[in-house]
Amino acid sequence: MNLLSVSHLHVNFHMKEQELAALIDVSFTLNRGERIAIVGESGAGKSVLGFSIVNLIGKPGYIKSGSIKLENKEITKMNLRQLQEVRGKRIAMIFQDPMMTLNPVLTIGDQLVETIRSHTKISYKDARNIAIEKLHHVQIASPEKRFDQYPHELSGGMRQRVIIASVLLLNPDIIIADEPTTALDVTIQAEILQLLLAICRDNGVALVLISHDLGVVSKVAERTLVMYAGHVVEEGPTLEIINDPQHPYTQGLLNALPQMTLPGQRLNQIRGSMPSLAERPSGCAFHPRCPYATQKCRQEQPRFIYSGVSSVACFLVEDMLNEFADKDKEAS
Ligand code: SF4
Repeated sequence: MNLLSVSHLHVNFHMKEQELAALIDVSFTLNRGERIAIVGESGAGKSVLGFSIVNLIGKPGYIKSGSIKLENKEITKMNLRQLQEVRGKRIAMIFQDPMMTLNPVLTIGDQLVETIRSHTKISYKDARNIAIEKLHHVQIASPEKRFDQYPHELSGGMRQRVIIASVLLLNPDIIIADEPTTALDVTIQAEILQLLLAICRDNGVALVLISHDLGVVSKVAERTLVMYAGHVVEEGPTLEIINDPQHPYTQGLLNALPQMTLPGQRLNQIRGSMPSLAERPSGCAFHPRCPYATQKCRQEQPRFIYSGVSSVACFLVEDMLNEFADKDKEAS
C-alpha cells in the first residue's frame, strides 16, 4: 500500500463571483521512505499542493474534489482532531522561512520541549535531553548553549536546522519541505539539503521537496513532478527528467539553470511568465510560452500519457509516440 495517494485532486479559490482553479486533476503516490520533488515556477501550484496534503488550505481556497489518502485514511474527510494527529506526528512541514514556524519570544529549547510534551507525557528534564540530542543530530554545535538561545541569536542556516530537529521530535512518516533552502546562502543550502537527505534516508522518512530549482531537486529526489498552472505536466524518475526532459516547460526550466549558461552569456529564461489563476489560457496552459505551440495546443488540453519512462501532458510528445507506434506497426 502507498504511504500517500493523491488522486484527481482539484483545489479552487472562491473569489468574489469567480471560481479559480489552483490545482487541476493532480494525482501522485508516495511510498514509505521515498523522496519526490514538486517543481515549477512561482504560481505553478506547488505550495497549494503541499498545504492541501495536510488539508491546510485556508479560505478562500478549498478542496473541490479528489482524494488524499494517508495509507487507508482519507485526509479530506478528517475532523480537526484527526487532522491535528496527522499534522506534525505523521506529516511534518518545513517552510522557506524558519521564522514562520519559530516563536521569536521563546528560546529554542522551550519550543522544542513544548513540542515534545504536547504529544508525550514526560518530565521537562527528559524532554530537554531529547531536544538536545535532536539538536546534536542535526549537527548544531554546542547544543546545550543553543537550547537557551532565542531564534534571532541564530543564523538562518542554524534556524533551519532547529526546524529540522523539531520535525524529527515526532518521528513523522513524511516531511513536506517547501523551498527549505531558498532563503539561505549557496554553501548553507547544500549543507541543509545534505542534512535533509541523510535524515530521510537514515530514518526511513518520505520527503516531498517543493522547489523552483531543478538543480536542487536533482541532488535529493528520486522522482520529480513538474507543475505548470495547477497541472502536473511531467512526472518521472528525476535522473530521466534531468537528462531527457520531454515537456517543453521542463526543457525550459532546465535551460534556465545558471549551470546551463556560459560565463558572460545571458540566462536562457523561458519567455513570458506563469499565468495568474484568473488568466489561465485555453487549451494547454503553456501554449503562449511554448515554441512548439500549434492551433490544437491553443484549443485542447493534452492528456497525461506514459512516454516510456516518464509521463507527460503534451501534444508534441503524444504525436511523436503515435508516429513511433505507426512505424512499429508498419515494420511488423
Ligand atoms: Fe507546447 Fe503544445 Fe506541448 Fe503545450 S501541448 S507544451 S503548447 S507543444
